Amino acid sequence: MSKLTVKNHDRNIAGYQYIYPVNSRRSGGLSIGINFNTNNACNWRCIYCQVPDLSVGAAPELDFELLAIELAGFLQDVLHGTFYQRFEIEPARQIIKDIAISGNGEPTSVHEFAKAIAFITQTLEQANIPDPFQYVLISNGSLMHKADVQQGLQLFNKYNGQLWFKLDSATDLGREAVNHAGLSAQKQLDNLISSANLCSTWIQTCVLGFTSSQGQGGLLDTQEQQAYLALLAKIIQQVPLQGVMLYSLARPSLQPEVNIITSASMDQLQKFAEQIRSLSLRVKVCL
Ligand code: SF4
Repeated sequence: MSKLTVKNHDRNIAGYQYIYPVNSRRSGGLSIGINFNTNNACNWRCIYCQVPDLSVGAAPELDFELLAIELAGFLQDVLHGTFYQRFEIEPARQIIKDIAISGNGEPTSVHEFAKAIAFITQTLEQANIPDPFQYVLISNGSLMHKADVQQGLQLFNKYNGQLWFKLDSATDLGREAVNHAGLSAQKQLDNLISSANLCSTWIQTCVLGFTSSQGQGGLLDTQEQQAYLALLAKIIQQVPLQGVMLYSLARPSLQPEVNIITSASMDQLQKFAEQIRSLSLRVKVCL
């Protein structure tokens, strides 16, 4: 049995297909991750992505019965079993802080997304978790136009869920270079507005640069930063946002671009954060 430290991000550590525990430095407790993308497939290919053997595609059909068994069994172990002791989690961190739907790919690509959200929230209600936890969905936001995704987000919002919406560039060049996303600026804006209208939304942004002349478009570039700030100014005229989370590359990318991208330093993140704060937005910074 491995110790579950804040540096151990092995998604198979607990031996489940859909569930993975994270001893989260950010939240100061246990984050229960739910991964629909067991096939490591995503409709984007971000150059900093840490999914191993990432492929293009959608999540496979969800085995609801297995998800129920795993989720209920894991919660039983955490709340009434020996999970914290077996994984040597410090007493101060023996608290469930969040349930994060965040997979090895885009979670909203799963078939019957709304049913999956209903299923998860019902299972958690039945578990009677005493800790005041937060629901989080980490998404690239590209499938917000789908009725099923919108329905799932509406339900998520009823449980005070937060959507962390990936926005790494406000330019076509940057989006293509960093995310290989293949969607227009207008489409991305529409997606973000839909998201913020349906559910409490934080923007989540990776700040990076390129070491080589082969690449440009990361947010360490001044022009990229100006375009990003202009987009934020436009968005907050239209919808409420919870704020912006800025982060750099905590761990090396598992994509072929690993050697041509550079992380932002804390100083660079803080300077950019100050510019965003001048728009009266909350900003959280993490390395
Ligand atoms: S959206 Fe997330 S899972 Fe998909 S490629 Fe980007 S970082 Fe990886």
